[in-house]
Amino acid sequence: MIHPSTELRLVNPLVGYGVFASRPIPRGTLVFVQDPLDIELAPEQYDALDPSSRELAERYSYLDPRGHRILSWDAAKYVNHSCEPNTMSTAWGFEVALRDIAEGEEITDEYGLFNLEWQMDCACGHRRCRGVIRPDDAWRHFRRWDRAVRPAVLAIPSVEQPLIGLLDEVTRGSLERVLAGGARYRSVRSLLRPAPVQAAC
Ligand SMILES: [Zn+2]
Repeated sequence: MIHPSTELRLVNPLVGYGVFASRPIPRGTLVFVQDPLDIELAPEQYDALDPSSRELAERYSYLDPRGHRILSWDAAKYVNHSCEPNTMSTAWGFEVALRDIAEGEEITDEYGLFNLEWQMDCACGHRRCRGVIRPDDAWRHFRRWDRAVRPAVLAIPSVEQPLIGLLDEVTRGSLERVLAGGARYRSVRSLLRPAPVQAAC
């Protein structure tokens, strides 16, 4: 489920839709948590789809560390990639705000942590745009991404969390141990499936 203080808007005809903050969202806020209504497709279910359904699933879902496709029922599936995003995946599976997000600002995410199977062109417009998002980007960048995610995770207890109730007990317990200083921060690397055999061309 996407954070309730968000809304769907047309970015432009080329990009299509995007998700925008309808109120300020502070750093450390959980912006997306998988919920029971999201569709989860195991590899064999995905493979059994007809080509057009598979294409839609491909476009609107992400791959979790088990290789399952998660297709959100709500506007979460319209969150666009940015090479300098304001939210990012965490080792616990939810997305966290990396910095304060202003009202009216587009919510963006790092697709490099979604276990991409193919490369994608990127025109996010950021001065540090990579131009192409590659399946193996995360293996090159995860340390830098951890440096952004870690302080955001540590800020979780200090901000309002409308989605925290969606975390399952095991996830919440693991997160709370880290927040209480009883366990080490978990790298986003744990989200990644084994490195692609060959780097995308
Ligand atoms: Zn980019």
